[in-house]
Amino acid sequence: MGTADPLLDTFGRIHNNLRVSVTDRCNIRCFYCMPEHPVEFVPRAEILSFEEIERFVRIAVRLGVRKVRLTGGEPLLRKNLPSLVRRIAAIEGIDDLSLTTNGVLLAELAQPLYEAGLRRVNVHLDTLDRERFVQITRRDELGRVLDGIHACRRAGYDPIKINAVAVKNLVEPDIVPLARFGREHGVEIRYIEFMPLDAQGLWLRDKVLLADDILEMLAREIGPLAPEPNGDPRAPASEYRFTDGAGRVGFIGSVSRPFCLSCNRIRLTADGKLRYCLFAIEETDVKDLLRGGAPDEEVVRVIRSTVRAKWIGHEINSMQFVPPPRPMYAIGG
Ligand code: SAM
Ligand code: SF4
Repeated sequence: MGTADPLLDTFGRIHNNLRVSVTDRCNIRCFYCMPEHPVEFVPRAEILSFEEIERFVRIAVRLGVRKVRLTGGEPLLRKNLPSLVRRIAAIEGIDDLSLTTNGVLLAELAQPLYEAGLRRVNVHLDTLDRERFVQITRRDELGRVLDGIHACRRAGYDPIKINAVAVKNLVEPDIVPLARFGREHGVEIRYIEFMPLDAQGLWLRDKVLLADDILEMLAREIGPLAPEPNGDPRAPASEYRFTDGAGRVGFIGSVSRPFCLSCNRIRLTADGKLRYCLFAIEETDVKDLLRGGAPDEEVVRVIRSTVRAKWIGHEINSMQFVPPPRPMYAIGG
């Protein structure tokens, strides 16, 4: 591990958090992310190899990255994912390695991934109702996702968090049952406001179920909540605990509670593009550098210049907002 200067942008934000997408493929079709069909995927030859990902992560760690999250598309579709986890977990300097998954393949993979060194997992689940699950994901996989969550509990993952996308006039009946599920099974539910990243351009402000409305529903139906005092001030989620001591919930309020001013993230797409924001319009290619035999210094230069180009924040709340050219599954959520 080197002692290079941190990844500082022009607004004084230090970047120590890297999200790596390992594939843009997925085995379900959430309507707020993917089109039903046809889905355009990046040709396989364009997807970074494990060697290329590992090299990039090592360089990023030299620049101060301490947190790495694997995502996609659906990361569990990437063949031999445990071997990538093993390689990354072995990199000195990473304090926190985690994975975001839809959970469909977790029943088989929770244990091998744990053995490879993964300890933290976020499982995406919006509803406990089978029909609504099918309506949202266009696939009948609720049973496998629940089996996957229980496999994570048995394997010993801690924490296990559930990502629930909050779409208005759709998931209201799911808010309270999910929180109860979380309280019962010791998992934290994170409600994520619907963001304008869907492939079909369906997003409208009116379709966002806001964090404040969810909080109010939970307080009314379950009981009082108090803001979690010890939360990481740079983490995107605002966290609350039920005051009876049973469980916590979090909110990723990108629309109503933007956290851009404390953003510490950069993202590497499955096809080797570096992005300074989920909503960025521009991205910088690093694949050709990694493939073309460029020295580490050249990759460092590109990482630094991408961070320096970072804007102050997304403009979801302004008339000027332009959605990014790629939808969520192609960026890596
Ligand atoms: N397939 C995995 C999954 O679903 O967790 C990992 C990739 S997915 C793009 C990452 C996360 O993005 C999901 O957990 C989901 O909660 C979130 N997500 C996807 N589309 C979204 C949208 N339009 N608005 C808000 N969150 C979204
Ligand atoms: Fe697949 Fe995740 Fe997108 Fe759903 S949110 S379609 S599970 S990549």
